[in-house]
Amino acid sequence: MKRAFAIMAFAAAVLESAAFEIYSDFPGGNIDVLEKGENGAKLRQQCRDSSWWFYWSFGVRGAEGRTLTFKFADLGDVLGSRGPAASFDGGKTWRWLGAQGIKREKNSSSFEFAFPPDAKDVRFAFCLPYMPSDFDAFAKSAPELKKIPLCKTRKGRENFAYSLGNPGGKIKIFLTSRHHACEATGTFTMQGILEEFLKKGGPAAELLKDAEIVAVPFIDLDGVLDGDQGKSRKPHDHNRDYSESPIYPSVAAFQKLYNAKAEKAETVVALDLHAPFIFRGAGSDAQQNRMFLLEGSIAGKAESQRKLSKILEAETLKSGEGAIIHRQKWDVKYGTPYNSDAHKMHLSCSAWANRHPKAAFACAVEIPYTDCVGAEVNSESMRELGANIAKSLAEYFAAP
Ligand SMILES: [Zn+2]
Repeated sequence: MKRAFAIMAFAAAVLESAAFEIYSDFPGGNIDVLEKGENGAKLRQQCRDSSWWFYWSFGVRGAEGRTLTFKFADLGDVLGSRGPAASFDGGKTWRWLGAQGIKREKNSSSFEFAFPPDAKDVRFAFCLPYMPSDFDAFAKSAPELKKIPLCKTRKGRENFAYSLGNPGGKIKIFLTSRHHACEATGTFTMQGILEEFLKKGGPAAELLKDAEIVAVPFIDLDGVLDGDQGKSRKPHDHNRDYSESPIYPSVAAFQKLYNAKAEKAETVVALDLHAPFIFRGAGSDAQQNRMFLLEGSIAGKAESQRKLSKILEAETLKSGEGAIIHRQKWDVKYGTPYNSDAHKMHLSCSAWANRHPKAAFACAVEIPYTDCVGAEVNSESMRELGANIAKSLAEYFAAP
């Protein structure tokens, strides 16, 4: 009897010690818990309707004062060069935890985390998240941004575009992000671009006298809120939906908005903001460790794009230490394996937008998840990059 009691007490103690909770029922949440034990858990990101990709986001409650290991199973390495991002205030602010707790193995990877004694609830994610609530908070601080209804998504959510500047001006600048739901860096950068245009008296604000900025921060709004990978969805993702008959309402609505706005303009530039592949730290010359543009396929327009790229290089080099810099030589030329029209049947946003007769150029802009040649990618550095893009656009249009 005594022995049975001891076993029960021991079992209860084990259960008690494993009683931390892993949760993902919040906007952007994504995780499967395969095993949970005293020392941590075995997890897997949910790829859902995408092929293998690395987005994940979850929270842990009740682990304060303990050290736990979270091991990702089976499907490859899903941890970037700066380790996981973490939030200690329910997802409001985030920072990188660093690579020190990471163990990389051939087919899986893990991170260890010592929860501070007061850390009752900690969120972890593969990158610094940017959610619709973040954009709403920013938009609230900028009443000059006009909210335009875009469409109802497939899941019935209201999606929006934002307009800034002079709707009657001869220049239209389009900004889009989250054609791939997980690529949060694009939206941080978009906020930085808009912040610079909102600054009174600067060169960017001067451009707005004759220009309208039209921004759609969350093309795949459902994917962002539901925590989907978004990249390479079946049958195709939002950035392969630029056909005559798009399957995603946001894409159809963006096409309509772009055409209507372009009609009233003399010249159009469109920047579609993305993030490249995850950077794990090896090979500092890796493309995913650089901020770059993808060149379009139309020769004269690629020239115009190079003009902006050159200005942007000079502008980012003026920023101080820790800034995300851009080098024109990092841009990916059209016709190379990473940038070809192998998917001519399924046009990307930028390839489609570039074809418009009024488009000076339209291109994809890639902002890395974790590093840019040694500079830490974070909210400040991405927004500073955005400010440099805005200043470069002003100079692009001011220069003959
Ligand atoms: Zn992308």
